[in-house]
Amino acid sequence: MRYFIGNWKMFGIPKSINILNKINSFHSKDKNRKKYRVIITPPYTLIESYSKHFKNKKILIGSQNCYQKDQFSSNTAAVSPYMIRSVGAKYTLVGHSDNRSEGDTSKMLKRKVEFALNNNLKVVFCIGEGRSDKKNKKTFKVLKNQIIKVLEKKFYSNNIIVAYEPIWSIGTGKIPNKDELTKTITYIKKVLKNIYKKSPAVLYGGSVDGNNVEMFKQITEIDGFLIGGASKSSKKFIDIIKNYYR
Ligand code: PEP
Repeated sequence: MRYFIGNWKMFGIPKSINILNKINSFHSKDKNRKKYRVIITPPYTLIESYSKHFKNKKILIGSQNCYQKDQFSSNTAAVSPYMIRSVGAKYTLVGHSDNRSEGDTSKMLKRKVEFALNNNLKVVFCIGEGRSDKKNKKTFKVLKNQIIKVLEKKFYSNNIIVAYEPIWSIGTGKIPNKDELTKTITYIKKVLKNIYKKSPAVLYGGSVDGNNVEMFKQITEIDGFLIGGASKSSKKFIDIIKNYYR
């Protein structure tokens, strides 16, 4: 199974659902549709209406983050996995670099993963090294730490997907070269196999578009993509899928 996950970040109002309607109608007619899953993570404000709209359709809705507490608490503006699940989301991102840079620590992320899984949300756990980590050849060390400090053996690995997103690549148009990326994805899977018998799916994210997907698709170890900017346009998102299977 391959995954094409669109992360809308701070984008979208109710009528933006037109973008997803177009993606859904492409997906439902695509001859390759059984080979992949489309998940979109709109902002919290749209999760309920979009989940209802696509209830019996192909597109699945997820959230971009969740709070590290179960059910309810007194934290202003916090949204728990329980609340997210109750409005129809099936997935949640955890550990996106935007949130790590705003203070999400591994300790917090572990709780988010745990509560999300307990509330029947599948988790897309994001990891990635920064520009200076890469320059100082610390990539593997950073990635290993990000994984082992959060993902525990007791978590049900079938409900976890890992997204490798080098921070220097997010929204910049810069992408890793093929050899480098193959080695990194293989390394991530090796670390994951030390925790779980079978590695969860590992996605790549960072400036993926309809052109560069030609290179990414040659790396068979990549199980799919987390797509930011290009997921806000139905044409760009569909082009990625079309070119991936061409
Ligand atoms: C992201 O924010 O997760 C992302 C991958 O963004 P972009 O595709 O725009 O680089």
